[in-house]
Amino acid sequence: MKQQFFTFIFIIFITFGLYAQKNGLIDKIVIDAGHGGDKPGAIGYKAKEKDITLDVALKLGTIIKENLKNVEVLFTRTSDKDVELYKRSQVANKNNADLFISIHCNSSTNHESKGFETFAMGFAKTAQNIAVAKKENADILSEANYQKNYEGFDPNAPENNILFSLYQTAYMENSLKFADMVQKELAKNTTMHDRGVKQANFVVLYQSAMPSVLIEIGFISNRQEEVYLMSEKGQYEIAASIFRAICEYKNSKEVEKITIPPIKHLIPDSIYNVKQKEIANTDSVNKDKPVYRVQILSDPEKIDLTDKRFSVCDSVWCYAQNGVWKYTAGAFEDRNKAWDYQKILKEKGFVDAFVVVFYKGKRITFEEANKLNK
Ligand SMILES: [Zn+2]
Repeated sequence: MKQQFFTFIFIIFITFGLYAQKNGLIDKIVIDAGHGGDKPGAIGYKAKEKDITLDVALKLGTIIKENLKNVEVLFTRTSDKDVELYKRSQVANKNNADLFISIHCNSSTNHESKGFETFAMGFAKTAQNIAVAKKENADILSEANYQKNYEGFDPNAPENNILFSLYQTAYMENSLKFADMVQKELAKNTTMHDRGVKQANFVVLYQSAMPSVLIEIGFISNRQEEVYLMSEKGQYEIAASIFRAICEYKNSKEVEKITIPPIKHLIPDSIYNVKQKEIANTDSVNKDKPVYRVQILSDPEKIDLTDKRFSVCDSVWCYAQNGVWKYTAGAFEDRNKAWDYQKILKEKGFVDAFVVVFYKGKRITFEEANKLNK
């Protein structure tokens, strides 16, 4: 009888601790930019994971501060420094935070791999999920005393660390719920591929006492995706998507509902306006002379010229040929300048870029252009 009573009290205590936490408001959020300092994370063609995660984390923090006045934002880092993984969840626990969001970039030896995925703690069901956890956990190997700080966690075999997933069990349902909201928002607001909600054992999440997710915002090892992840437009679209998921999560938990701003209201106007100005500049070349452009993409479907894939290009233009839409960047009267620009675009991820030439809007051969230029 006595034992039953204590069990009852214990259950009340746990329930109170979990559900009555801070009057049920989601008003303290920890944003964790993956890696940092001498731990760069994944390395892309141009970018390091630690820089992209910090950029996106800071943008997300700014959007929250500007739009949710009653929400406090805490960062695990705001500069390029290394923070040990256990200290990141400590920040969240000490401050009694309501949500922990860790931002990362994926990478793969398969350069075609692409898309975003959100993880909650739990059993990794596939070798692929285990591989992601292994990569993200590897940072602790260079931390002093990692065996002590992580209670014998073996980062080389995350699938063996079953106990680790128990810490987050109490929050698993909410973590998965929030993860799903993040995926849906990213799918809606970016053109990247939705890889879904997943589970695996992440050192950075396991000790946190609140709903926690790790978002792999895209593949830094995929040239096109790296370009997008590095761009202001891409980073804002990702941050704004995560912000909208936070709003949805708040609304699902709180009595008083907030109005969730549309994605464009969350992104500075300049991000889109600059693009339009650049497109308008296309007309500045002499119409009576051949115009050299760099072809970057072709697609049977018409793509909007403000599409995020073009965010790193100047003077985007398109023409139709044999039922296919072809997209070009830049507009030059000087053929050599077009070649220089082709080089730049290749470095920006348009690996198949090549120079084409037009006269009065029609594609012509280089020979024809040479004659016209005489
Ligand atoms: Zn990472």
